Amino acid sequence: MTDCLFCRIVAGEIPATVVTETETTLAFRDIDPKAPTHVLVIPKEHHREIGDVEPQLAGEILATAHQVAKSEGIDASGYRLVFNTGEDGGQTVFHVHCHVLGGRGLSWPPG
Ligand code: 5GP
Ligand code: ZN
Repeated sequence: MTDCLFCRIVAGEIPATVVTETETTLAFRDIDPKAPTHVLVIPKEHHREIGDVEPQLAGEILATAHQVAKSEGIDASGYRLVFNTGEDGGQTVFHVHCHVLGGRGLSWPPG
């Protein structure tokens, strides 16, 4: 989708700080980090939200997110994976993405 921000990052049309990538996923730093580590993991293929993603690809997104947590050194201290979904979920970019947040204590419940 040429009008999708994250598809344009996958295509290299918009720069991003890439952390890692696999054949099917891309991980890059959030432009407005909410924690010392804030990385977004996306499927390279366009899907609107997590409910639209087939289980195998969803697993690949989670595996990449865990790999990011390890490479960022937050796997032992703890981290949070978040899929904001839809309007009430606070989703603002409608290409599914997993937030990997860590590097500080994260409060609960979310706002
Ligand atoms: P959402 O609110 O949809 O769950 O998350 C979208 C995230 O994308 C936000 O955390 C926002 O900071 C991030 N974001 C928006 N535009 C860009 C961009 O151009 N580059 C990067 N790296 N992140 C972006
Ligand atoms: Zn897209």
